[in-house]
Amino acid sequence: VNPIAWAIPVFMATILAEAWLARRRGLDAYSAADAVTSLHYGILSQVAVAFTRLLSFGLYAVAWEQLRLFSLPADSLVVWVFALVFYDFCYYWAHRCGHEVNLLWAAHQVHHSSERYNLTTALRQTATGAFTAWPFYLPMAIVGVPPKVFAIVALVDLLYQYWVHTQLVGRLGPLERLLVTPSNHRVHHGQNDYCIDRNYGGILILWDRMFGSFADERDDEPVVYGIRSPVGSFDPVWGNLKGYRDIWRRGRAQRSPWRALAVWFQSPSTPLSEPGAASSRPALGSREPADPALRRYALYQYALLVAPATHFIATAVSLPMAQRLAYAAVLVSWAMSVGVLLDQRRGWRRLEAVRVMAVCALALAAPGLFTPDVGLPAALAFTALALPSLLWLRRRTCPAGRPAPT
Ligand SMILES: [Zn+2]
Ligand SMILES: [Zn+2]
Repeated sequence: VNPIAWAIPVFMATILAEAWLARRRGLDAYSAADAVTSLHYGILSQVAVAFTRLLSFGLYAVAWEQLRLFSLPADSLVVWVFALVFYDFCYYWAHRCGHEVNLLWAAHQVHHSSERYNLTTALRQTATGAFTAWPFYLPMAIVGVPPKVFAIVALVDLLYQYWVHTQLVGRLGPLERLLVTPSNHRVHHGQNDYCIDRNYGGILILWDRMFGSFADERDDEPVVYGIRSPVGSFDPVWGNLKGYRDIWRRGRAQRSPWRALAVWFQSPSTPLSEPGAASSRPALGSREPADPALRRYALYQYALLVAPATHFIATAVSLPMAQRLAYAAVLVSWAMSVGVLLDQRRGWRRLEAVRVMAVCALALAAPGLFTPDVGLPAALAFTALALPSLLWLRRRTCPAGRPAPT
């Protein structure tokens, strides 16, 4: 079982607690559309994990088999500590290149695309990162860190970074010198001039202090979260592709194929950042649906989605490929359709109605697809909860013959 599946209930409980606390403190940390979108990105990234393990772990295992210089024992505490620090060092460089090379930024910009900063931002992860991240960790395989140790320290490094995505925790005194904390990671998510390309660390902020990329959070300049080239959509599929589209367009504008190719390896900050960009770009927050019923609808759909998504994350690698693909298609189209709905793009009601009917029909026709253990009763319960969505969509379409406000 993918351990991320076990972490999901903890994620959900802490997100609800943080949202409640932020509201009590009068902190504008959450919006429903943004939070649901971040969670959709998280699901899409885990869908990608189910198909890219060969890249992220398979190539590592092959390199360890064929190229290792030493055979480090997996039962030594020293090896585990060494592996965690080594992983964090490799992560620093993978993350730094993720910000400083266009091709890698196209994948990583997903994580920075929210203009809010809260625990859901931590789950806003890329679905395409596995294609470019794996070479950064091969030095660990060559030194001889066993694949099992590598997989677990990678998970520890990833899970550590969850809690730092919050505005509720201030500075942490001397820990700020050593560790990645909410304060120094807030700087990493800022688009203010002083925040750009700063604080890349995963667990240790030491790397940033050593390699000159550290910046302390300033009290006199509140961090403006997000990126200078906003995604401008709540559709997570588009959000994952937009970075590549941007590079492609900029490449096409070049005069020679070599220059077009070079664009993929240039730094995103040089050509893209314009003076004052942070303040002149429209905030995604202003695009959020004004209709509270629409925001509640998206939250309700996420509440329904979390059970099959958790089930998929837990079991995907053990499913036959055809079933895994079908299941993934359901989850991706679900997140995409709710994204189109939040964008209120043309035809969103029809698309969402078709999506709800298709998911219910599939759950009833093939209950084993979603829940092999509980089967038909779970499919019936799911359908009973999901079908009222159709009534809501119909009501929104024609209350007393008038189109619903958009
Ligand atoms: Zn980053
Ligand atoms: Zn982050």
